[in-house]
Amino acid sequence: MNRIFQLEPYIGQEEIENVAQAIQGKWITEGPFSEKFLDDILRFTGAKYGVLANNGTLALFLGLLALGIGEGDEVIVPDFSFIASATSVVFAGGTPVFADIDSKNLNIDPSKIEELITPKTKAIMPVHVYGQSANMGEILRIAQKYNLLVIEDAAQGFGVFFNESHVGTIGDVGCISFFADKTITTGEGAVILTNNEDIFMKLKYLRNQGRPNSGTFVHPYLGMNFRMTDLQSAVGVAQIKKFNEIKNIKQKNLDLYTNLLAECNEVRFVEQASYSNLIPFRANIFTERVEDLIDYLERNNIQTRRFFYPLHMQPCLEGKSWHGITKNAESAYKRGISLPIYCGLPAESISYVCNKIVEFFSRED
Ligand SMILES: *Cc1c(COP(=O)(O)O)cnc(C)c1O
Repeated sequence: MNRIFQLEPYIGQEEIENVAQAIQGKWITEGPFSEKFLDDILRFTGAKYGVLANNGTLALFLGLLALGIGEGDEVIVPDFSFIASATSVVFAGGTPVFADIDSKNLNIDPSKIEELITPKTKAIMPVHVYGQSANMGEILRIAQKYNLLVIEDAAQGFGVFFNESHVGTIGDVGCISFFADKTITTGEGAVILTNNEDIFMKLKYLRNQGRPNSGTFVHPYLGMNFRMTDLQSAVGVAQIKKFNEIKNIKQKNLDLYTNLLAECNEVRFVEQASYSNLIPFRANIFTERVEDLIDYLERNNIQTRRFFYPLHMQPCLEGKSWHGITKNAESAYKRGISLPIYCGLPAESISYVCNKIVEFFSRED
């Protein structure tokens, strides 16, 4: 059996043709493809406004800047996320404060937020992890009660809906990443969504050197360069068309795992919340023997990933953050393994992975 990798983007002929067209047209910075990609995203998500950004990490940073988060401000972030959710706050000058997660769906537990609110709290950053929405109804209720801003880290959330609303369009701003392992990809890339015109104007100036449009050298505001390229947007235009196909293949792959491991009592799948759809991100399982199982699968040529390392334990954030009791985040890290479900993964490979998992538990018992 060839090595089974964790992921591979679903890209092909249409992406190649679009990139070739961008190059032949000789417009490689943001141009026609970027306009179309952004339009397609706005139509898909229902967001009123959006700007593209270089990647999800900088999109979060830009979103925080547009909301005015800075020195001394605290932002409540789930303890279980990718590092960028926290570092974007630190680089904006603020302090991330880590809340625990729901043990079943791994998203921020709204009932753990209020105890972390202080006079310095400015915003809540729910993160929609592993293809399902955080409980945005409860989060908005708390945000309104305490007059807090909401920035959604919807990096993994393309196609994910909280009830009827696409994630990233519910808070004040929301960021979706198009990194190579996300649901649709442009290699590096992201979008920041908002329904607020003032925030949109701030985002536009901040992302493009503090000026109303490229080509002018008068800069009314301070800004940076957070732009994408048309080469990336050319890929994005092809990717967004494939969304349904991607979603269906990943769902089929996840179903196969669920069926093949149904009898394996040592393995449990992450549960789905009633208020969210699921856009499978990986086949995410819990087991009590994570390290041994990972070793065993690795010896059988299967690449796995562990779950997020709790942010409050990250060495780089020591002294730059604080946290409540986050035992569910620690428990998820200790028990979680991600298995591959990318579109190009053959059914035989999934059967092979599942056979090895079953074999592992029967051998050791
Ligand atoms: C991927 C990811 C990011 C960062 O996005 P990049 O495009 O890789 O910079 C941020 N938050 C979460 C939850 C992510 O999964």
